[in-house]
Amino acid sequence: MAGASRPIVDDGWVDSSRQVGLTGRITRPVLYLAAGISGASQHMAGCSAAKTIAAINTDKDAAIFRYARYGVVGDCVAILTELTKAAKGG
Ligand SMILES: Cc1cc2nc3c(=O)[nH]c(=O)nc-3n(C[C@H](O)[C@H](O)[C@H](O)COP(=O)(O)OP(=O)(O)OC[C@H]3O[C@@H](n4cnc5c(N)ncnc54)[C@H](O)[C@@H]3O)c2cc1C
Repeated sequence: MAGASRPIVDDGWVDSSRQVGLTGRITRPVLYLAAGISGASQHMAGCSAAKTIAAINTDKDAAIFRYARYGVVGDCVAILTELTKAAKGG
């Protein structure tokens, strides 16, 4: 299931029912893939109970990497495009 941080919800990209965090939903998934998420405490309140957190962020010093078991420094759009291709077998 896809969730989002507050700025994305506030900008109207995603419905508020999908906001993860202090003022959103608390999630406990097996895998939380945080793409372009800074790791602000108010967001992490909604996902830090995930079994595994994997993060993609262009900023190597982003707070999310303190929570993530797996981390990739880079552009999440490019990396997710490659991951999707690989998952489809090509
Ligand atoms: C009372 C209160 C309650 C709040 N409740 C919530 C809540 O419930 N949920 C919530 O999410 N927030 C909440 N917030 C807001 C919270 O403090 C943060 O502002 C918010 O979580 C930041 O969201 P973000 O990480 O998506 O955005 P940003 O802080 O803008 O960070 C974007 C991140 O993406 C990275 N990035 C940019 N472009 C790329 C790219 N192409 N590829 C990879 N990485 C990229 C940047 O390096 C940065 O780390 C609350 C704040 C307050 C004061």
